[in-house]
Amino acid sequence: MTDIIPAPLVPRVSVHGGGTFPVRRIFCVGRNFADHAREMGASAPASKAERGTPVFFHKPADAIVTGNADVPYPPGTQDLHHEVELVAALGTDAPPGELSPDVAPSLVIAYGVGLDLTRRDLQAAAKAKGLPWDTGKGFDHSAPISELVPAASVSTLEERTLTLRVNGETRQHGALHDLIWDVPEILVELSKLYALKAGDLVFMGTPAGVAALVPGDTFEASLDGVVTLQGRISG
Ligand code: MN
Repeated sequence: MTDIIPAPLVPRVSVHGGGTFPVRRIFCVGRNFADHAREMGASAPASKAERGTPVFFHKPADAIVTGNADVPYPPGTQDLHHEVELVAALGTDAPPGELSPDVAPSLVIAYGVGLDLTRRDLQAAAKAKGLPWDTGKGFDHSAPISELVPAASVSTLEERTLTLRVNGETRQHGALHDLIWDVPEILVELSKLYALKAGDLVFMGTPAGVAALVPGDTFEASLDGVVTLQGRISG
């Protein structure tokens, strides 16, 4: 049988040292830093035992913006927010069923840094009505991402920090050891809900300091000492 339309292109992210990573799905984690949960008016767990379950949502695979390209200001919002995040890239399909914590780390083939761009006004309106976040989160160009760095060359991930500068001024800075759910824990929780596969990206949640971006702003997001993403919001 012949496709009746041209097949959509598979979005791809460059990998440091060579090659590309074809993207299958983008999973995102909400409220994964206590300071950000609090700034959004949510409560933060006092201990691991009180974490409950993580907040998950999605972006379409073709929401990625690569190559430090300009990011067009999206339609439908007056309040576009930045959220700098660690991104984990899966290189292996998870075995069927719930992932073992021992196996989870081996699924990650590379790391990067990305922005979970958010139409905060639409998300806030959805939250107020108990409606889904999709229009606030899963829009075109909502996931600028750096090149990916092979996991084998990222040592001591938990000791690293995330930083976002806008127009040269630091807006967000957080330490990965403050993640409420770390990468293996998130993969275990996702595996209870979804079949994780090679090509999946996981945006791991943002520290405090989220704020607005406007046309003309330049940003520099970094997984400090590992990789940097630069870009500009175009009108
Ligand atoms: Mn986020």
